[in-house]
Amino acid sequence: MVAKYSDRVMLMQYKSTRNSKIRLEASQVIVQGISEEGGLFIPERFPDISGQFSRLSKLGYQALATDIFSYFLTDFTHDELETCVSRAYTQEKFGPEPVLLKSLAGVGNRHILELWHGPTCAFKDMALQILPYFLSIAQKKNTSGRKAVILVATSGDTGKAALEGFRDVPDTRVVVFYPQNGVSPMQKKQMISQEGKNVNVCAIHGNFDDAQTAVKHIFTDEQTKLVLKENGMMFSSANSINWGRLLPQIVYYFYAYFRLSETGKVELGQPINIVVPTGNFGNILAAYYASQMGLPVNRFICASNTNKVLTDFIHTGIYDRRRKFYTTSSPSMDILISSNLERLLYAFSGENDVKLADWMNQLASGGHYDVGVEVMNRLQKLFFAGYSNDKDTANTLRETWILENYLCDTHTAVALGVYNQYVQASGDENTPTVIASTASPYKFAGSVLEALNTKTTQDEFANIAVLEKLTGIAAPVQLNALQKKTVRFTEAISSEQVSEYVLKTLGIGR
Ligand SMILES: *Cc1c(COP(=O)(O)O)cnc(C)c1O
Repeated sequence: MVAKYSDRVMLMQYKSTRNSKIRLEASQVIVQGISEEGGLFIPERFPDISGQFSRLSKLGYQALATDIFSYFLTDFTHDELETCVSRAYTQEKFGPEPVLLKSLAGVGNRHILELWHGPTCAFKDMALQILPYFLSIAQKKNTSGRKAVILVATSGDTGKAALEGFRDVPDTRVVVFYPQNGVSPMQKKQMISQEGKNVNVCAIHGNFDDAQTAVKHIFTDEQTKLVLKENGMMFSSANSINWGRLLPQIVYYFYAYFRLSETGKVELGQPINIVVPTGNFGNILAAYYASQMGLPVNRFICASNTNKVLTDFIHTGIYDRRRKFYTTSSPSMDILISSNLERLLYAFSGENDVKLADWMNQLASGGHYDVGVEVMNRLQKLFFAGYSNDKDTANTLRETWILENYLCDTHTAVALGVYNQYVQASGDENTPTVIASTASPYKFAGSVLEALNTKTTQDEFANIAVLEKLTGIAAPVQLNALQKKTVRFTEAISSEQVSEYVLKTLGIGR
């Protein structure tokens, strides 16, 4: 099959969801993170690579990633892309294969895509190990040496993955905000013990949405941006609003599909379902973008926990964040403002930037918006949505362990539970289905043990030891190693103080 060379050399530009006239190149988009008027960057087109499946299906992870990146990061040279990829997805950081696909034995045609074999034991590593390399190159192309200040709001996993990815990277500075009572004990320990000269971690009184809103606000705050500029710095984002976060996630959906074809579980061209446990809608959006590039997908299954704002949205067309916020056993999905939905709606509204700006303004001011029946119908054709409460999630986790001898974390259990709902509702149990597994069970050892009806203690490292003994599965060494690390960051502030904290941390406060 001839590679579509024309596509590859064609410049890819990016527009904003709230202003389709904006045209920026990839490196600018990665440096900037979010568009000036608050919109999110989208590539102007998605090249169809389905004609090259027979060639692509034979590539290893690194080569496949480089190939896919080359369509989108067109102002990077091929050498630059290869360097980024080979430094990010090393055996040392991820093991011999960055992601693993494991088929479940029980009913259905289910294949678990384990995305958590990186340094911080969650799927965020897939993007955050490579983003710093992208950003370093993008900075050189764009900012005449200004230092990048990476602001992160985290529901637990992004923070650690960003800290680990950016620690001691020259000309960068990372500041992470996490909800004080909204992350797991292990996630917290991972962050507050982070090493590195260019990192800061701070708790926020409030939930993830409060942290995310505060951080998003700084990005568009002219006053603060000016102060940074005067001091030779600029803001950038490591949250999934940054295109450099989403792009690396497209790769593993193709990789999983090719592994299924390699083992005869699908014919190239045969559609699959993809199930994703969802919070900020980044990971499932990457799956949708893979389908825009030719990956044959029958149904996307959007799995939520009790914070089921996305389930309700897909069922009604009304997005309404005016509801109780729950702290659940899957904390990385405890989110009511799902940022990347904006990108999906841009596609589903016929790229209507005016409408998007209006809906997002309504969300910011009144807390809700209604996309109408037409958009809702289109969404429902492609997206099945469901949610699993903590009790059902625990049951799914326990049954998966007992009946199928597969140990998963709570987020993955949400996905497995909602997939069962999909099979019940649709009768479709034959379509090969890839289920994104987003974290190591040992990252949430306490919750996993509870699900297995085993006694837990306050000491998460003791819980890890008990879980290892119970299952005979070894915990990732990097989690146990945390036990000996000293706590470096103990500060907690209100979301109104975020801006002041950032300036103080950077030593440029007034
Ligand atoms: C971040 C995260 C999610 C949610 O991913 P989104 O891209 O925000 O939808 C799910 N599970 C785990 C373990 C995570 O860290």
